[in-house]
Amino acid sequence: MENLKKYINEIKNFPKEGIVFKDINPIYKEPKAWNELMIPLQRLISTTKPDYIAGIESRGFIPASALAFKHEVGFIPIRKPNKLPGKVIGVNYKLEYGEDRLEIQQNSFNKDSKVILIDDLLATGGTAEAAGNLIKKAGGNLIGYAFLVELTELNGKKKLDTNLFIESLIKY
Ligand code: AMP
Repeated sequence: MENLKKYINEIKNFPKEGIVFKDINPIYKEPKAWNELMIPLQRLISTTKPDYIAGIESRGFIPASALAFKHEVGFIPIRKPNKLPGKVIGVNYKLEYGEDRLEIQQNSFNKDSKVILIDDLLATGGTAEAAGNLIKKAGGNLIGYAFLVELTELNGKKKLDTNLFIESLIKY
């Protein structure tokens, strides 16, 4: 996985002052690199056998939907406010400055369906914590989290449910 870091660009002060944004798009552009990145996640899906993979808007949709399609597992989008039609369940969560909100469609899951949550990157963990709570609120049985990249210094895992598996592939 370390060798894939050469495909990750660091963009300073994007999207806000003070953030060093990890741009992983060059991985998706290079099929061999993308394939290598997805192998451990494919193994994870095969061994844990979820009923659904939930992805967080918008960069989380890329790996989550690709894996769901490949493994013939349902894909559930978790989105920013006012994007999903019909009845939704939402959670507000704190960011470093201010607040944000994520939503999921009501009745996304059959009762006790096994769900894996996927996002591109784990930073402080607030987003994944909120999305995990949303899955539980919507009736899903969250069994674990998976991230392509983890910024380990920010200790985001601490905010997640540590009884579940937390997989991250490329660590900084
Ligand atoms: P957090 O809630 O702090 O764990 O932030 C995770 C979410 O913000 C993910 O959906 C990421 O896409 C995005 N994110 C946070 N920090 C970065 C970063 N340095 N580079 C790229 N994306 C980031």
